[in-house]
Amino acid sequence: MRCVWGRSKHAERVVPRIAVLGSTGSVGRMTLEVASSLGPEFEVVALAAGRRVHALAEQAAETGARSVAVRDEESAKTLAAAMPSGARPEILVGPEGLERIASRADVDIVVLAIVGGAGLPAALAAARAGKRLALANKESLVMAGDLVMAEAARHGAEVIPVDSEHSAIFQAMACGRRSEVKGVVLTASGGPFYRLAQREHGHVTAKQALDHPTWSMGPKITIDSATLMNKALEIIEAHHLFGLSADEIQVLIHPESTVHSLVEFVDGSVIAQLGRPDMRTPIQYALTYPERRPSPWERLDLASLGRLRFEKPDWEKFPALQLGYEVIRRGGTLGAALSGADEVAVGAFLENRIRFTDIVPLVKRVLEAHRWIAAPSLDEILAADAWAREEATKCLPLSSLSK
Ligand code: NAD
Ligand code: MG
Repeated sequence: MRCVWGRSKHAERVVPRIAVLGSTGSVGRMTLEVASSLGPEFEVVALAAGRRVHALAEQAAETGARSVAVRDEESAKTLAAAMPSGARPEILVGPEGLERIASRADVDIVVLAIVGGAGLPAALAAARAGKRLALANKESLVMAGDLVMAEAARHGAEVIPVDSEHSAIFQAMACGRRSEVKGVVLTASGGPFYRLAQREHGHVTAKQALDHPTWSMGPKITIDSATLMNKALEIIEAHHLFGLSADEIQVLIHPESTVHSLVEFVDGSVIAQLGRPDMRTPIQYALTYPERRPSPWERLDLASLGRLRFEKPDWEKFPALQLGYEVIRRGGTLGAALSGADEVAVGAFLENRIRFTDIVPLVKRVLEAHRWIAAPSLDEILAADAWAREEATKCLPLSSLSK
């Protein structure tokens, strides 16, 4: 079967038109690389980013994007001034700008690679506009997975995971019916401190935490990987994407980051997806699905790896993991509170205001104080996120920690 895109009245049009939201970040830049390597058949028509405006201007000129969104008016002015003469895309601002791009008639695939809760409006807009949502931004599902998935179903939008574990599950699930799935195993590298004695965790610096052993990623997800909060977010992401209950999701530590995740079927067969720890593979699959296209990146060499290890996680050392299950079990606004509190806590650690070991207790404290709503509206979800940010900020020390 061939993927058919666009609304051409002529013969089947096979030119997927892509919007990359968060294009200056780690996943965003790799998406542009993948789109360019796939050739002119894949056209980038819109971009969006936060404040790295000069990089964005270069990307806009290179791709010939027709529309570009930035976070605020000041960035819009800088962007307009930085655009080379000749390149004059429409410039949009703020969450409305992201929503407009995500629902443009000439966009078929929205790659959502914005970090944090800022991705939610665009996720909802892409779902409501019936687009293919190639979803890297896990926070939108953590905050409002029920709403995003319901809107996608209602408007015929496809949600294709970009997160490597969920792409692996998505691919492995194709080997059977949903009713034949017994459960999934999400793998986790364990991050840079998995083997470090717990008493040492209080002394680790942001620089050490940003040095991930297997993946090269943006700062928030790298810190989340070090606390294993990233895996908690991914448990919630898997719940929403695949309709899995907490009992159907298991986590295993797998330091080689080669088996990206596994699906166990009722007959005892376990289907895994393997590959190098390279986000370009799941990004490309989300763009070309249901096809597979050749890719030029380095291939997996199992013989040189030698062995693949798996072990049960240390729940005591990494208490963040449990929070993922708790959010699935309770649902409601708890995911939004978790996401908001975690963003503040990670930001504070990166600014040297709290210690590494303060991140998860701070998030837990906010969740304990949260006045939870069981079946929230979008406004209630946004309010829970805002409340959690405020509450977490109140708990921060006023000054930086001494070095
Ligand atoms: P990053 O920090 O490298 O990039 C984030 C991007 O979002 C940047 O382009 C930034 O300008 C943009 N952005 C931030 N706030 C914005 C706003 N308000 N409006 C518009 N743009 C905004 O992050 P990343 O590592 O690329 O991660 C992006 C998302 O993908 C995260 O949700 C992360 O969890 C997920 N993800 C990343 C990886 C990875 O390998 N990096 C893997 C799996 C999932
Ligand atoms: Mg992942």
